[in-house]
Amino acid sequence: MTLSIRGFAAQSATTPLAAHQFERRDPRPDDVVIDILYCGVCHSDIHQARNEWGGSVYPMVPGHEIVGRVSAVGSDVSKFKVGDTVGVGCIVDSCQHCGSCHAGLEQYCENGATWTYNGTDRHDGRPTFGGYSERIVVSDKFVVSISDKLDLKAAAPLLCAGITTWSPLRHWNVGKGSKVAVIGLGGLGHMGLKFAKAMGADVTLFTRSPGKEDEARRLGADHVVLSTDEKQMAAVARQFDFILDTVPNPHDLNPYLNTLTLNGTLCLVGQLQPLEPPVQAVSVILGRRSIAGSAIGGIGETQEMLDFCAEHNIVSDIEVIDMKDINAAYDRVVKSDVRYRFVIDMASLKSA
Ligand code: NAP
Ligand code: ZN
Repeated sequence: MTLSIRGFAAQSATTPLAAHQFERRDPRPDDVVIDILYCGVCHSDIHQARNEWGGSVYPMVPGHEIVGRVSAVGSDVSKFKVGDTVGVGCIVDSCQHCGSCHAGLEQYCENGATWTYNGTDRHDGRPTFGGYSERIVVSDKFVVSISDKLDLKAAAPLLCAGITTWSPLRHWNVGKGSKVAVIGLGGLGHMGLKFAKAMGADVTLFTRSPGKEDEARRLGADHVVLSTDEKQMAAVARQFDFILDTVPNPHDLNPYLNTLTLNGTLCLVGQLQPLEPPVQAVSVILGRRSIAGSAIGGIGETQEMLDFCAEHNIVSDIEVIDMKDINAAYDRVVKSDVRYRFVIDMASLKSA
């Protein structure tokens, strides 16, 4: 038996998303069935729906910032019960026995983590479908608890934008006394500002958009640098211990590398494509600087981030949309016209 599910899907890289009926597996003993309340709209959804990273499989139901309520559990599940408020992020499974999985870094599973959508279930070989849908079935190990103290619709983006910025900030030991810069004020960037500030750092935003200064300060930036202004860039040379780069497309890293201190690190989370134009090796050699990268976060770490958010009342700044407005929302994200995350109210799926 399978569950018949309503959702929204891309049927190809060039067709707009539209209503789509599909099937999910009958719950296995370790599965949690979740009625989806809200799903955030990540720029990765657009990259994949439009096949900008290659390898997209259609029909594709995007969505990996999922918040919902448990409506059923399999016979082996003891961690969750019907009615619990829970979340699901970018991964729904991993091998559970490699070094990365043992270290709680399931996103770096040596045998390949199972992506929430545009992936393949490692047990039954069927495609995975994401959160732009009424219900999802996920192994309990990949479900996290969400405090009802949080505004649930604004908590949805924590499942990807939140953990993707939290994990590198923690890994590179950002804290009191750190000088941190975030590049790009979108979904990830605005969470980077909030977290870096909450961790006690002195925080700078690099933006191409002149109009975002006041908002950036409200979100946690102590300083704002217009990255297109060479004078402003020169004024922050050798300043930052850590730069979190959330830009989604190839861009010149050289001007940013020169703003790192001795031993400073620039961590890419946005761009998956090759670096272009070439990086001047001299700017990493003279200064012993590093260029690094980071992918989402492990499940334990995601729970830790959500608990921190509940304690400090941190959520995303969002614009709630109806399911039918998803294609217009995609266009706005691409134009950097989002303040700062779209979240789909899944109740609107019925009328879409
Ligand atoms: P977003 O909301 O579109 O934000 C990106 C921001 O980057 C924009 O608001 C803009 O900010 C700036 N920007 C955009 N294009 C630029 C360009 N060509 N040059 C310089 N700056 C540019 O996107 P998002 O949802 O935060 O996602 C950002 C990227 O992270 C996407 O590529 C996404 O796929 C990726 N991602 C990676 C992971 C991971 O695990 N590593 C997880 C989630 C998402 P300003 O207007 O302030 O300049
Ligand atoms: Zn995402």
